[in-house]
Amino acid sequence: MGDCNQNETDEAPFSQRPIVILGAGIIGCAAARQLLLKGFPVVLVAEYLPGDQSIYYASAWAGAAWHAAGGITPDQRYLQVVTHRILLKMAQDGPEAGVSIVNAREYLEQQPTPDSAIWGKTVVSKFHEMKPGEYPPEFHSAWAYETLVTDPTRHMPYLKQQIEHLGGQFIRQRVDSLQELYGMFPESRVFINASGWGSKALTDVQDESCFPERGQNVFLTTDRCDTMYFRNGKEYTYIIPRPLSKGIVLGGVKQQGNLSPEVDMEIARDEIARAHRLAPEIVPEHPAPDTVSHIIGIRPSRKGGFRLDSERKGSRVILSAYGFGGGGYAFSYGIADALVKMVETAERENVV
Ligand SMILES: Cc1cc2nc3c(=O)[nH]c(=O)nc-3n(C[C@H](O)[C@H](O)[C@H](O)COP(=O)(O)OP(=O)(O)OC[C@H]3O[C@@H](n4cnc5c(N)ncnc54)[C@H](O)[C@@H]3O)c2cc1C
Repeated sequence: MGDCNQNETDEAPFSQRPIVILGAGIIGCAAARQLLLKGFPVVLVAEYLPGDQSIYYASAWAGAAWHAAGGITPDQRYLQVVTHRILLKMAQDGPEAGVSIVNAREYLEQQPTPDSAIWGKTVVSKFHEMKPGEYPPEFHSAWAYETLVTDPTRHMPYLKQQIEHLGGQFIRQRVDSLQELYGMFPESRVFINASGWGSKALTDVQDESCFPERGQNVFLTTDRCDTMYFRNGKEYTYIIPRPLSKGIVLGGVKQQGNLSPEVDMEIARDEIARAHRLAPEIVPEHPAPDTVSHIIGIRPSRKGGFRLDSERKGSRVILSAYGFGGGGYAFSYGIADALVKMVETAERENVV
C-alpha cells in the first residue's frame, strides 16, 4: 500500500482513540457527558462510580446548591455561569436530572464586599435586596433570588445512564498512577485527571496541596423544601432544599484532616440549632428523631484552589481538573465545557 497506508505508524485512527477520564465524580461524569455530546469517544476509570456511597466519593454527598462563590477570578466566575446555564436547562426539561429551581434567602452578617457572592446577582433570576422587616433584624442586609439545587442521589445515576446511552464506558478500577492508566490505553493521547482528593496519592501526581475536608450534614425529612437559606459570615450556615427527595440539608461544617465516618452528634445538634435560628418556620428546635438522618462526605479541597490546566507530556496531553473542595457542583458543567475546549485543542494538535 506504500505511502497511502494510514496505519503506518501503528496508531489507531483518531476517531477510535478514547478520551480517558480518571474519576467518575461530578467532575469526571460532567466532562464525559459534554465530550460525548460533541462526539468524542470516552472511557471513565474510577474506583467509585455513580450510586456508590463511600465517604471518599464526595459527589454522593453534596448539598448541592448553586451559590456564587466569593473571592474567585472573573474566569472562575464564568465557569459557574456556564454551570448555571446548563443546570437551569436540565431543571426546565423536567425532574429526571434531579435539578430543581428553588427560592433562596441569603442573610448577610456584614456589608458585602465587591469580591463577595454579590456578583451572582446578574446570573440568578428574580434577585432583589430584601427590605428591613423582611429578614431577621440581627443581619446587616439580605437578598432573595431563585437558584438551583442538584439532588446527587438522582443526578449521579442520571448522569451514568446518560453517559452509557451516549456510548461512554465505565471501568471500575483503582490505579496507583497515571502511568498505569496510560498502560491500559496505549492508543489514547488525551487523559483527564478528575480524581479529586485521589491526586494526593497518585504516585506520579502527588499533589501536596490537596487535603481532605470533612463535611457532616443533617438531612431533615419535611414537605417544606422549596427555599434555600444561606447565612453569609462567621456563623456559616445553610439550609439546602431537596424537593425531589422531600427534605432539607442542614449544614455546615468543614473539618480539615478529619476522616471519621462516624456521626458526630455534637455537630448534628449544633447544625439543627443553627438552622432553627436561621429559619424557625421550617426547622423545629427538636425535630422528631425519625425525620433526621446524617450525611458525611470528604470534600476534595486544595490549597490555592482547584487545578484546571493542560500539560503536554511527550505524545500525551494530560488535563487536570481536581481540588474543587465545597464547590464541585457549582463549577461542574463550566469545568466540563472548558475541558471540551481543551480536548479539542489537544486533539487538533495531535491530528493535524
Ligand atoms: C457535605 C458536603 C456538602 C457539599 N455541598 C456542596 C454544595 O452545596 N455545592 C457544591 O457545589 N459542592 C458541594 N460539595 C462539594 C462537592 O461534593 C465536591 O466538590 C465534588 O463532589 C467533587 O467532585 P469530584 O468529581 O472532583 O470528586 P469525587 O466526587 O470525590 O470523585 C473522585 C473520583 O475519582 C476517583 N479516584 C480517585 N483516585 C482514584 C484512583 N487512584 N484510582 C481510581 N479512581 C480514583 C474516585 O473513585 C471518584 O470516582 C459538598 C461536599 C460535601 C462533602
